[in-house]
Amino acid sequence: MRKTLEKQGYHFVGPHKHSAVKTCLWLWKAMRREGEGNCYKGKFYGIAAHRCVQMTPSIFCNQRCVHCWRPLEAFNINEKKEEEVVWDSPEEIVDGCLKEQQRLISGFKGSHKTDKNTFAEAQTPKHAAISLIGEPTLYPQLAELVQEFHSRGMTTFVVTNGTNPEVVRKISPSQLYLSLNAPNEEIYKKVAHPDYNYWSRVKESLEELGRKGKEKEREEKEREEGEEAEEGEEEGKRRTRTVVRITCVEGLNIQNPEGYVELLKIAKPDFVEVKAFMHIGYSRRRLPREAMPSHSRVKAFASEIAEQLGSGSGADYKVVNESEVSRVVLVSKK
Ligand code: SF4
Repeated sequence: MRKTLEKQGYHFVGPHKHSAVKTCLWLWKAMRREGEGNCYKGKFYGIAAHRCVQMTPSIFCNQRCVHCWRPLEAFNINEKKEEEVVWDSPEEIVDGCLKEQQRLISGFKGSHKTDKNTFAEAQTPKHAAISLIGEPTLYPQLAELVQEFHSRGMTTFVVTNGTNPEVVRKISPSQLYLSLNAPNEEIYKKVAHPDYNYWSRVKESLEELGRKGKEKEREEKEREEGEEAEEGEEEGKRRTRTVVRITCVEGLNIQNPEGYVELLKIAKPDFVEVKAFMHIGYSRRRLPREAMPSHSRVKAFASEIAEQLGSGSGADYKVVNESEVSRVVLVSKK
């Protein structure tokens, strides 16, 4: 399976090879002189694809989501197996990723289609998307890994499935995503297929997001009032923005907006990304093409969520952006 993944463009890094890096299609597009569009993370949040390192510190995952495009069957892990993994240090992982990314983009140098300035900028990555494959919170030093990227002048996005709330509590990435793929426990089991039922832990993680939001509000208020932030408070801790991502699968979890809204009220995230399941990779073995909702269907669902959340949470939520090619809609708290 490792060999298959290597053929698909995954590059394993670090002494124990549980971390991986992969350049994405958008990086390839960004490098071209004529420019061929932008990743939705660029459109929504200003991430430059050519300066983004897409990586994971854990190729393993404790869920087996039906819509996942990764070959989960090979990398599923439960709590007993976790203890057997020998983990690399954050420095080893970051060094390995940056070195490998540089090697991967070096191939653009000789092409007449490459934009010279973009190529030069790409030598110094500014962002780590800790979301490539697997569940990052299984890596025991995720908080330190995030700090390691920050200490090298980079921002970080972490995408978690929410099954490890105590790790969610500890980490302070620039932006923290929680994938919420069900409006209730019953649908969660059908979507995520975990060995254990992690639903209560996912809800705890939503609470953690809510706590981070409250901390941020308090700090912003203090700043507005000219007060100093509490002594000893880490700089990075104050900057985490929160996102809940919902990946919609037709006939499975694109239903019950009220259920999602009740859960979103717990987290009160800065953003909600409502996204279509994409019929790619290994998900094609589990779901038919018709399970992929259209962009208009996703947009209508996102609008319903925004409206209900706006009227029921005391905060103002609105649809603020969308990317039709990626079938994703961005809902933002005012
Ligand atoms: S949590 Fe993410 S990586 Fe794990 S199975 Fe689900 S979609 Fe795939």
